[in-house]
Amino acid sequence: SGMDNKMVMGHPAGLFVLFFTEMWERFSYYGMRALLTTFLITEIAKGGWGWTNESAMSLYGWYTMLVYATPIIGGYIADKLTGQRKAILIGALLMTLGHASMALEGFEKNFFFLGLGLMILGNGMFKPNISSMVGQLYPNTSAKKDAGYTIFYMGINAGSFLGSLLCGYLGEKIGWHYGFGLAGIFMFFGMLQFFVAQRVFGIVGEQPKKEEVKSTEEEETPKHVVRDRLIVVAVLMIASIFFFLAFEQAGGSMTIFAKNYTQRILEGTQAITFKWLDALLTIIPIAAVTFVLFKLSAKIFDKYPLTIIFTLISFASIAILGIWKVYREFTAIDTEVTVAWFQILNAFFIVTFASLFSKLWEKIWNPSGPVKFALGLLLVGIGFIVLAYGSSSIPKGAETAAVSMVWLVLAYFFHTMGELCLSPVGLSYVSKLSPKKLLGLIFGFWFLASAIANKIGASMGGMIDKISQEYSMSVFFLIIAALPIVVALILLLLNPMLKKKMHGIK
Ligand code: GLN
Repeated sequence: SGMDNKMVMGHPAGLFVLFFTEMWERFSYYGMRALLTTFLITEIAKGGWGWTNESAMSLYGWYTMLVYATPIIGGYIADKLTGQRKAILIGALLMTLGHASMALEGFEKNFFFLGLGLMILGNGMFKPNISSMVGQLYPNTSAKKDAGYTIFYMGINAGSFLGSLLCGYLGEKIGWHYGFGLAGIFMFFGMLQFFVAQRVFGIVGEQPKKEEVKSTEEEETPKHVVRDRLIVVAVLMIASIFFFLAFEQAGGSMTIFAKNYTQRILEGTQAITFKWLDALLTIIPIAAVTFVLFKLSAKIFDKYPLTIIFTLISFASIAILGIWKVYREFTAIDTEVTVAWFQILNAFFIVTFASLFSKLWEKIWNPSGPVKFALGLLLVGIGFIVLAYGSSSIPKGAETAAVSMVWLVLAYFFHTMGELCLSPVGLSYVSKLSPKKLLGLIFGFWFLASAIANKIGASMGGMIDKISQEYSMSVFFLIIAALPIVVALILLLLNPMLKKKMHGIK
């Protein structure tokens, strides 16, 4: 590739520039998202907009759909006109302005909507192109490419973790515009950092592909091979819709559970011993696993030094999560365990376990892409079976239900392990299987899967209530569990055919 070969910790130096740019961008994206619905439904006297839950979820659904739909346009613009680097900078600038605009909602309500619009456009220019740049730092055949995407994915979730925690806290406790504003400040620094450091990329992402030297490997790839590989990408995308769909749905239904659970505690109908037991049962396994990871990773450090940083972050996170949980349970504050909480838990599990999965593929077992996807979908199914079991004591049509947090955390654990088989792996496969000239566009299609899932997921929330009137909660979760499991089985059946169509790409 066209990189100068400066390496840092075994990876191209450019990876770390992309890592931190994406980390701060995701800090602001998830930080803002953690505030969005809570802000909208908070009563006007407390600085919110006093919307109904339904309207807030509707806006949330549209927003998260559009944010992941525009990457098709942004990816294509970078392919044909600007190249990735300019597109990333334009996107980052639009998003910085978007966050600034949202922070001004107190002066003029329309600034809020203007902000959302700018962020939708900005993310379209940013997300597909930063994702495709990661892969271009490595030769297509390099096994390091997968590891590169895993590290990048840790950056995404380190940002999500910090953003949800800090913006969530500032927004709810100090003032909404401080939360929105903080998101904007970090977006700005992410942009600045990318701008200053971009020389490290050499010619990567500088020009659209058509103007580059004609002797790339792709020019020699026969047409039917390109077509076959795109078929594989398309099949993986369809499978990923079922993943993100189930995942979004889980967030929605678990939020309802968690709210009811918290309500019971606040009303004092939950025995105190239960709170401690739940807290301990949540924290001890996480601490134990992190401890084992920490021990194991001593051997890995020389080869994979980022692990040390992230294990330390994990330890800090456990403390924060534990304190956070106990704090929320024992103070009669007017907040609930909301979407933000699960966002934080999800990011936490990713940062903790990502390197373990990447080691698994690298050293122990490296099945084909479709098999990894199938495994991811099976894990999602298992997560829902856990929820079905956990909710089996709830009578049908119950208005509120108290379900132990242990089930929620365990389910989210399985779902996040599924994500690790699917999402970072998916980015890497899109990068390897796509023709270089259309890289941005195809990454755009990859994110379109999330767009569709986000929209359907958000509007499925209402279904829970209806179904639980007629059947029990458990039945509802078993139905949702069946969906990804069936898709997983189909993928396993298709695997031999898909593998052939990948023409040697691992
Ligand atoms: N959490 C990942 C990210 O923010 C995955 C997003 C997605 O929906 N594909 O990049």
